[in-house]
Amino acid sequence: MKIVLATGNKDKVRELQVLFGDVPIDVAPDGFDPEETGTTLFQNARIKAEALRADVPDDVIVMADDSGLFVRALGGRPGVYSSRYAGPNATYADNCNLLIKELGNEDDRGAAFGCCLVALAPGGQMLIANGVLPGEITREASGDDGFGYDPVFRPLGDGRTLAQMTRDEKSAISHRGRAARSMARLLEIS
Ligand code: IMP
Repeated sequence: MKIVLATGNKDKVRELQVLFGDVPIDVAPDGFDPEETGTTLFQNARIKAEALRADVPDDVIVMADDSGLFVRALGGRPGVYSSRYAGPNATYADNCNLLIKELGNEDDRGAAFGCCLVALAPGGQMLIANGVLPGEITREASGDDGFGYDPVFRPLGDGRTLAQMTRDEKSAISHRGRAARSMARLLEIS
């Protein structure tokens, strides 16, 4: 079995590579960046997986991750627009800073990360796995590990942000870890 990930995001690849253990994982060619026109994580994951399918041999599984941060006090924003929250060329730091600023002194800091993995298996079958990580947005950034909004997101029941956890600690609870473990069961690789 071989998987090609339909993403150019090296941070996601690094996390997914570990989660799929011994299965060889390749990544989409440089510049792979289909327009994400969907309004749900599933729709965008499917767009990415289908955009790569034709370029990959039939016996290889194509898998796409779409993920985002849903903040209650912002009506679920930035959601599917998480990577572009502070603008089309926003850095992770730009997005975190804007989030802290927009939430201001809001007391309701509740939020959740979501991840949808879509796999197109040889033969055309589509497999879907979802994972959610509930938590809250901190008042300031802390920690240097991880990526994206990790420095401003504290999982429920933990005093640390995701950026203060080791990679294994994050994967054990994260939206991506949860989705990847269900996907591994669907693909019968665990
Ligand atoms: P996508 O490439 O459209 O799926 O964008 C996902 C965006 O959501 C990323 O660029 C990050 O900003 C954010 N995100 C997704 N997963 C994580 C995570 O595990 N930690 C922090 N931010 C994440």
